[in-house]
Amino acid sequence: MKIAIVGTGYVGLVTGTCFSETGLTVTCIDIDKDKIDKLNKGIVPIYEPGLDDMIQNNVEKNRLFFTTDIKEGIKGAEAIFIAVGTPPDEDGSADLKYVLAVARDIGKYLEDYAVVVTKSTVPIGTSEKVRAAVKDELQKRGANVDFDVASNPEFLKEGDAINDFMKPDRIVVGTDNDKAKDIMRRLYHPFVLNGHPILFMDIPSAEMTKYAANAMLATRISFMNDLAVLCERVGADINWVRKGIGSDPRIGPKFLYAGTGYGGSCFPKDVKALIKTSEEHNHPLEILKAVESVNERQKSVLIDKMIHHFGATDAVKGKTFAVWGLSFKPNTDDMREAPSIVIINRLLELGAKVKAYDPVAMDEARRIFGEEKIYFAKDQYDAAEGADGLFIVTEWNEFRLPDFKKLREIMNENLIFDGRNIFELDMMKDKGFVYHSIGRKIIYG
Ligand code: NAD
Repeated sequence: MKIAIVGTGYVGLVTGTCFSETGLTVTCIDIDKDKIDKLNKGIVPIYEPGLDDMIQNNVEKNRLFFTTDIKEGIKGAEAIFIAVGTPPDEDGSADLKYVLAVARDIGKYLEDYAVVVTKSTVPIGTSEKVRAAVKDELQKRGANVDFDVASNPEFLKEGDAINDFMKPDRIVVGTDNDKAKDIMRRLYHPFVLNGHPILFMDIPSAEMTKYAANAMLATRISFMNDLAVLCERVGADINWVRKGIGSDPRIGPKFLYAGTGYGGSCFPKDVKALIKTSEEHNHPLEILKAVESVNERQKSVLIDKMIHHFGATDAVKGKTFAVWGLSFKPNTDDMREAPSIVIINRLLELGAKVKAYDPVAMDEARRIFGEEKIYFAKDQYDAAEGADGLFIVTEWNEFRLPDFKKLREIMNENLIFDGRNIFELDMMKDKGFVYHSIGRKIIYG
């Protein structure tokens, strides 16, 4: 069986590679020539643990291909997945221009029956727009080719994407006919041998499920962030509160970590898009508006603590700060909507110097900030050398047990602003640091 994936980003590349792992012949298509050239030379353009080896294995076995030519790429494919980006439009709604451009291309070149599957996160009603765009192009060229549409939102997490795709909790498929359903069932059969379900449903419900999942997770994060501020005011510790509520099976422990606000390529834009959809249908989701505004406030919480520590914004001018962690979360090089960007830009605005380090996102950071604005450190200690304070923004494992003695020696001031609560308070007292974290008391060590 042959399939095609259009859009070879975080989702498309992982999807295509994991499907080829099951023995299917997969062609990944992208308009980004540089990306496709790299992949054809064996260079993987993104950082995702385990992906390089899997791609190499399937390329060598002649079942994973990369091309910029959509006409060739979709030839003979029984399923064509659309996995292009859906960034926010100016008004917050999901911009469908990439998805619909692909649908039109499919209509231009489709020769035999295929199910056109939307994997991108898209608003309710998009699959029908995809259907209309494909149909329109088929009609324009007078082609009588049968096709179906399906919605198959993706739930993988960057940083653990292979695992999530190979062993999904569930697979959600929206279809309106048996032929498309059969193809989707065959494709996903190898991934549900662990007993987890393929949930077949109507198309609008599948489209809504993806937004509902991300909105719920973002809500948990904002809830904890809001509570963290109150914990600081009343003398409670958000970490104990998290453990206390997370051990209740009705609540569960995941996505309850207070921090510097959610970022990444999905939560911010998906929350915005769902708010927009709700407004368009005269039922504004008030909860999500609060989720978003708490998140905006939270992004500046570490900077506010720092200004408060030094007494005034002026006092920050000329100081040097180390920033550990630039990616929006560990195990990825993705910096889309990363809190580190807000924090670094704010530090620069205040006239501070920034020395930044991330285990894998340095190239991406250079692309975002350019070479001149900040110092790109060789490692975490190079970043901390001579710093008046250290910001911990992403909880990479290698930051969890640093050499505190060395840090005390090389830093100007023993001052840490930890946006991820990675250190125990007692330990920071022993190690002799002034330690600010989220939703916990300040330690003067
Ligand atoms: P991405 O930006 O990494 O990749 C999108 C790719 O599509 C790019 O390589 C781009 O060049 C390509 N593209 C754009 N227009 C094209 C066209 N006309 N033809 C061929 N290729 C084209 O995006 P992503 O992070 O992989 O996200 C893709 C979709 O999946 C989005 O809707 C996103 O919301 C959703 N999603 C993302 C994640 C995630 O963790 N990144 C998880 C679940 C769902």
